[in-house]
Amino acid sequence: MTDLFQQLEADLAERRVAHLYRRRPVVATPQGPTVIVDGVTLTNFCSNDYLGLAAHPHIVAAAQAGASRWGVGSGASHLVCGHQGAHEECERKLANFVGKPAALTLATGYLANLAVITALIGREDAVFADKLNHASLNDACLLSRATFKRYAHNDLAMLERQLAQTEARRKLIVVDAVFSMDGDTAPLAGLLALAERYDAWLFMDDAHGFGVLGEGRGSMAAASLASPRIIYMATLGKAAGVAGAFVAAEEIVIDYLINMARPYIYTTAAPALIAEAVSASVDVIAQEAWRRERLQAHIALLRARLTGAGCALMPSGTAIQPLEMPSSEAALGLSAALRQRGHWVAAIRPPTVPTPRLRITLSAAHETAAVSQLVDDLLDLLPTVNSSRSFS
Ligand SMILES: *Cc1c(COP(=O)(O)O)cnc(C)c1O
Repeated sequence: MTDLFQQLEADLAERRVAHLYRRRPVVATPQGPTVIVDGVTLTNFCSNDYLGLAAHPHIVAAAQAGASRWGVGSGASHLVCGHQGAHEECERKLANFVGKPAALTLATGYLANLAVITALIGREDAVFADKLNHASLNDACLLSRATFKRYAHNDLAMLERQLAQTEARRKLIVVDAVFSMDGDTAPLAGLLALAERYDAWLFMDDAHGFGVLGEGRGSMAAASLASPRIIYMATLGKAAGVAGAFVAAEEIVIDYLINMARPYIYTTAAPALIAEAVSASVDVIAQEAWRRERLQAHIALLRARLTGAGCALMPSGTAIQPLEMPSSEAALGLSAALRQRGHWVAAIRPPTVPTPRLRITLSAAHETAAVSQLVDDLLDLLPTVNSSRSFS
């Protein structure tokens, strides 16, 4: 019996030695530009609340009114009796906002990716995925049982070779529109051209583009792309500040998912109050353009000052600004040193990413002075943290 526990302990011990052990910091406040963690106030540079909407009064009020109107629980799955008026209204609003005929909301982005990919493809099919795609997309590809081909990051030539070789019944290209741990973007127009040439579906996960890019309408709108073969997915717990995700596509695709997608069918509908909050969030995203402008100004400031000082920021124009580190230990060390100075920046390590990095995320909620202070402290700390290694 004890053997079972010893095995778990050995695996965890291995992670500790490799500086890969994780724990969950407990946050004592709502999400915002500053949070209290373990009794200490920190400026928050690791949330995905890019527009500062997670505690927006209008959205909070919509959730409260939603609870009063619909109660808390949805009672059942969407196909039984859990699909309420608030869900229906929210889906119409989201579809319209991103420019697709129909949409389907799901409880989380992870679930949405499982739903779309496992419903669309199976054993006779093939799926083509960027090497740096989010873990939820990879898990979905594995679960689909389709032939799973990964191409080098943003390498359209390699993808084309793979598409040309396949004899699969259906082909699905799967990609992060904005790469979650790198912050760079996918060549969406090139991907769509290949999807058309090889008669494939193009499924884009816009978890980090929705709300931020394309005047809030996301990466598909930002790239001015419109095609029935694009299946668009975005999460609602990041820039939108709420929770859940949606898939937007042709009516028949949504109808197919409602009928075939097991991760949609066999789960209880998210509470209607969430749908009410999402609908309110879409209004704020559409109306408060200043949030995107402010975020862009923060991105420009951080990049100009850090790259100007010779810092190796990864090439990203989005709110995700990763700083590559020579080791997991160095990433943890710099993260801890920044924390001593009142900044919370996450060290992201394998297996989440291939190479360790500090993942700085910026938000419209930050004051410019807070971003400047982070830069000052980073520039001050970088040489000492990496004193034994070359870092440029
Ligand atoms: C966060 C994220 C998800 C998962 O969404 P959740 O709603 O948090 O489950 C999926 N894809 C990408 C690219 C993400 O960054």
